[in-house]
Amino acid sequence: MPAKYNPTEIEKKWQQKWAEDELYKVNDDDPRPKWYALTMFPYTSGDLHIGHWYAIAPSDVHARYKRMRGYNVLHPMGFDAFGLPAENAAIKRGIHPFTWTMQNVENMRRQLKSLGAIYDWSREVVTCLPEYYRWTQWFFLKFYEAGLAYRDRAPVNWCPQCQTVLANEQVVGEGSCERCGTAVSRRDLEQWFLRITRYADELMEYDGVDWPERIKIMQRNWVGKSQGTEISFGLDHPGVDEKEIRVFTTRPDTTFGVTFMVLAPEHPLVARLTSPDKKAEVEAYVAKSGRQSEIERLSTEKEKDGVFIGAYAINRLNGGKVPIWIADYVLLSYGTGAVMAVPAHDERDFAFARKYNLPIPVVIAPPGWQGGDLEEAYTEPGIMVNSGQFDRLPSEKGIEAVSEFLEERGWGKRTVSYRLRDWLISRQRYWGAPIPMIYCEKCGTVPVPEQDLPVLLPEDAEFKPTGESPLKYNDEFVNTTCPRCSSPAKRETDTMDTFMCSSWYFLRYASPDCDTAAFDAEKVKYWLPVDLYTGGAEHAVMHLFYARFFIKAIRDIGLIDFGEPFKRLFNQGIIISGKSKMSKSKGNVVNPDDYVAELGADVVRAYLMFVAPWEQGGEWNDSGISGVSRWLNRVWNLALTDYSPDENASPDARQKAERELSRITHKTIKKVTEDLEKIHLNTMISTLMELTNCLAKVKETGAVISSNWEESIDILLRLLAPTTPHLTEELWQRTGREYSIHNQSWPHWNEALTKDEEITLIVQVNGKLRDRIMVSASITETEARELALQRERVKPYLANKQIANIIYVPGRLVNIVVK
Ligand SMILES: [Zn+2]
Ligand SMILES: [Zn+2]
Repeated sequence: MPAKYNPTEIEKKWQQKWAEDELYKVNDDDPRPKWYALTMFPYTSGDLHIGHWYAIAPSDVHARYKRMRGYNVLHPMGFDAFGLPAENAAIKRGIHPFTWTMQNVENMRRQLKSLGAIYDWSREVVTCLPEYYRWTQWFFLKFYEAGLAYRDRAPVNWCPQCQTVLANEQVVGEGSCERCGTAVSRRDLEQWFLRITRYADELMEYDGVDWPERIKIMQRNWVGKSQGTEISFGLDHPGVDEKEIRVFTTRPDTTFGVTFMVLAPEHPLVARLTSPDKKAEVEAYVAKSGRQSEIERLSTEKEKDGVFIGAYAINRLNGGKVPIWIADYVLLSYGTGAVMAVPAHDERDFAFARKYNLPIPVVIAPPGWQGGDLEEAYTEPGIMVNSGQFDRLPSEKGIEAVSEFLEERGWGKRTVSYRLRDWLISRQRYWGAPIPMIYCEKCGTVPVPEQDLPVLLPEDAEFKPTGESPLKYNDEFVNTTCPRCSSPAKRETDTMDTFMCSSWYFLRYASPDCDTAAFDAEKVKYWLPVDLYTGGAEHAVMHLFYARFFIKAIRDIGLIDFGEPFKRLFNQGIIISGKSKMSKSKGNVVNPDDYVAELGADVVRAYLMFVAPWEQGGEWNDSGISGVSRWLNRVWNLALTDYSPDENASPDARQKAERELSRITHKTIKKVTEDLEKIHLNTMISTLMELTNCLAKVKETGAVISSNWEESIDILLRLLAPTTPHLTEELWQRTGREYSIHNQSWPHWNEALTKDEEITLIVQVNGKLRDRIMVSASITETEARELALQRERVKPYLANKQIANIIYVPGRLVNIVVK
């Protein structure tokens, strides 16, 4: 009996040896085609749980496969290291964010190494280190130069618990903070924005990239492009200069049905238009809505309310007086901050009109409408009525006709509106890259000169949840001199959204040590774009969206020559345990360290691929992983116990067994290869299990000669190498093969050998030859009989006869006896 499979021992040994030999060192000048396989880098939260492994182990398997296929593979790893949790830990436990983060990096690196991946650690990227964030700041300056970064006073989502501004994407559910669940409120602050809206249209295109349809749909919805018409309503108010209020609508065909208009409470006209008797009520409403987050205001659950401000606009189409209301569901930052209300043909307006007893005239007739009141809003197309010269026009045509009419008179114009707004990147926090800007009383806003980068985060800061950046209280940091006029000046004290850091890290891997630029242009030209990017679908509208914007923007600045960062995107599913998502509070978190210590990293890797289709995810199950462990133990024993061929087998039987083994082996190569290309990793594992079963039978019977046996073992090990790198390296060595299995090429299959063998089946009727059929050698008796009865050349001899018997001689003939 061979030595027992001892994963802990062999895994440590090989990890050390591979590191010493720099087996996975990646070269930039290599004649082979390149393959850039990237996994979303983890946030430095402290521990890698099994969910991380589910993201990173299968992608390592795929990258290893590409490596064996002859590609020069870059599969790097790094850490997303700035952000709130580090600072919260500092406040809670009095540990410096840098110390906390770097301790976590250390631990996570150790865990990642235990996985046995092909990471070239000399390319590691850590976003909180000055040699990295110096370039994040540099990109910010480039955006500023290109007019893509600007400062503006704007209402922001504010988490009173985390004491920071949140991006819209970080506000979840009914308006609570993504991190701590506290209800989000609003505040006005001077903020830095990136002009992502300039790329709205291009961000909806996915030319030449292979992305999941649902991610594309989510991103397109995020951009929220709609074609419509901006309509001018007349304003004639004593003491107000403005002579119109413009609204955006996708339904200009309903304009005759407008019975009120709604302004955002913070609309600049509100105070000037409000009549004295409404003043108190309006002011109270404006104050109330200011305390609510946008998400709360837009919630579909909430009943819509509002206040009439005592003023009117004029519907130019019919000269009607339109009462002006304010309501918090209208946001100043969306469109024009004003909407026209057509209660008969919009659900929200209908409910609002019912609540406040406003008229609901029908202007688009539903099919069969008799002129009565509507029970609910009719939002489908119909025939225009009560619409002057447009009556009897189908509403789809009315959209064009009314728009044209308005445009001719200068009362409106066709336009496009977007839901997407510019990317707010200012954070009132310490643990982030400082925004490299200086404010001078004489010169205004002055960018930090490039040669002065990085603007270092000072080590000493007071971590108190004050609602302002801790940097604000650090005089040494704040006080500086103006780079232009040398007068005393002050630094920007906000830091950047960490999504800035993760929008370009994949460029840095190409030349991580470059200290004269963010990246070496030649190397980025060689490695980028990323060929396969894998990660969770939860990043659909933040990271993946921002990274695409970033790449398009720096392309236009002239730094790179491509516009999409990730050619193919693959989203893995989630590993659950005990029927629910793993979480510390539920106590159902699976820690990979325990399983690695007990069963080995290879078993965990193989199990994670076997448990479910990768894109779907599945449930962690201890008996499932035990089954995988038993399988790998069988592989171990199969490869290491001596094979002895059956000396008494006939040449015929031996030939047949050899043909059978080579057929199964080549079929396996084909299936495993195709599964890897399609990233169907669970069926790849079951195919390898089947091959193992087949080899176990061959071993029992000794049916093939030793060299055939050796060849099949050789192929099994190579096919298994990406999945279980340590086990296969050990077996490769123990069976006398040349180090390293990971430098071997991927096996090729011979298509002819994958085919089932064919034989000629003779069909007789009453013993006379009537037909010959080519069939698979593995045909069953039932299949052979059915096939014979259906042959055109046989049928005439069966007509009007009774079948008395069918005799089947396996592999030879079918004889149909008729009466
Ligand atoms: Zn919070
Ligand atoms: Zn100055």
